[in-house]
Amino acid sequence: ASESDVNDVVVIGGGPGGYVAAIKAAQLGLKTTCIEKRGALGGTCLNVGCIPSKALLHSSHMYHEAKTRFANHGVKCDNVEVDLAAMMAQKDKAVFNLTKGVEVLFKKNKVIYVKGAGKFLSPSEISVDTIDGDNTLVKGKNIIIATGSDVKGLPGITIDEKRIVSSTGALALTQIPKKLIVIGAGYIGLEMGSVWARLGSEVTVVEFAPDIVPTMDGEIRRQFQRSLEKQKMKFMLKTKVVAVDTSSSDVVKLTLEPSAGGDQTVLEADVVLVSAGRTPYTSGLDLDKIGVETDKIGRIPVDRRFSTNVEGVYAIGDVIPGPMLAHRAEDDGIAVAEFIAGKEGHVDYDKVPGVVYTHPEVASVGKTEEQVKASGVAYRVGKFPMLGNSRAKSIDDAEGLVKVIAEKETDKILGVHIMASNAGELIHEAALAITYDASSEDIARTCHAHPTLSEALKEAAMATYDKPINI
Ligand code: FAD
Repeated sequence: ASESDVNDVVVIGGGPGGYVAAIKAAQLGLKTTCIEKRGALGGTCLNVGCIPSKALLHSSHMYHEAKTRFANHGVKCDNVEVDLAAMMAQKDKAVFNLTKGVEVLFKKNKVIYVKGAGKFLSPSEISVDTIDGDNTLVKGKNIIIATGSDVKGLPGITIDEKRIVSSTGALALTQIPKKLIVIGAGYIGLEMGSVWARLGSEVTVVEFAPDIVPTMDGEIRRQFQRSLEKQKMKFMLKTKVVAVDTSSSDVVKLTLEPSAGGDQTVLEADVVLVSAGRTPYTSGLDLDKIGVETDKIGRIPVDRRFSTNVEGVYAIGDVIPGPMLAHRAEDDGIAVAEFIAGKEGHVDYDKVPGVVYTHPEVASVGKTEEQVKASGVAYRVGKFPMLGNSRAKSIDDAEGLVKVIAEKETDKILGVHIMASNAGELIHEAALAITYDASSEDIARTCHAHPTLSEALKEAAMATYDKPINI
């Protein structure tokens, strides 16, 4: 191979981490190739994650609103029905357009796209089995591993993606299950449970731990669980699955037991969703051939420059430690490209917002009250219920609250937690504030347009050091 065949950067994996890294590297003038084996760009997020789940959450929300709340707003529509095939087709169209859109961005930025599975021959040589059956050698001075994560199974449970499904199967069911059991009360399980509950399934969420979404602020979590219960989702916490029986063609039977041991119960369902987390994916990369280390749970440790223990080999996104979220992977992608181009890059994992896209949504950034308490720092909490927010009241969608936690001495914001219909959008004002070490008074003294849901954050900020006005 001539020198001109050697890339400055080769990215393995075309998910939000990999495709963003590839585009940024190309924008910085580096010759870049991205290898993706799926046959479509966008990774887990665009193909079987964030995007299809948000499409179904929106469609099912529209159906549920039409059925339960349109009449309150004077909109009459009888016989509202679900056309599941059409709902799935709209989701598929959104996925197709977005993944194709990334291909267009690759062309625009002159990123070379190789469709196939890559594996290391050396720290600068990748052998690719292409999806059309060929093999090709891709060389690079710098290699970025962005191979993401995969569904984590549970011992003794075989996922067939029909009756026992992962999130991927739950995004493509062809019938609305009468009864759905979700194993795992993390955000993915709750989002998918919400979709099917809105469409009419009886949903039971079984969780080994004592709480749903363990990373959430406790006070918000309790209100959130009550809200989901009002939406008829049932929760069996501190409960473990001990056996799964699929011998009947009608129903799947799950034998459950308290996590600490005790009497067993049997629960039946048409579909069981296994949503017990995700696991880093490095299978088939031949990492051991070049000596890239992984930790106990298969993640690739990296330094602040996203460099692995092997020089010239970097890793980003779900495959390294840190919050397994698309926007974090994207920010890693930009930072690693900047480092490779000789610039500085930076991602602060303590300031990555997290959102659960149910209704209401729950969003947070920074520390929970439990974390602040444990750190020993003296703090103040300001809260404002959405019921006091005029916009939320005017649209009759006023469930939830905003909670701001600030350091007592300096008023510096330590954490913001929002449960509200649009929390996933509202949180970014708090993310900006926390990133720039703002105080709650900085937010409260920023003029907020009226009437907006954002005013609830302003009032909660005001409540940390003074009194809110509208409650
Ligand atoms: P991935 O997106 O997993 O991409 C890795 C890519 O590498 C894959 O396409 C894979 O095919 C490819 N690959 C692997 N090995 C090779 C190889 N040897 N050669 C070539 N290609 C290879 N996150 C959010 O922030 N918001 C959400 O709302 C959200 N919702 C989610 C909903 C669901 C149902 C799921 C499952 C996940 C969701 N996530 C969400 C998480 C998000 O999808 C991931 O954090 C994100 O996709 C990680 O990006 P990544 O680039 O690290 O890896």
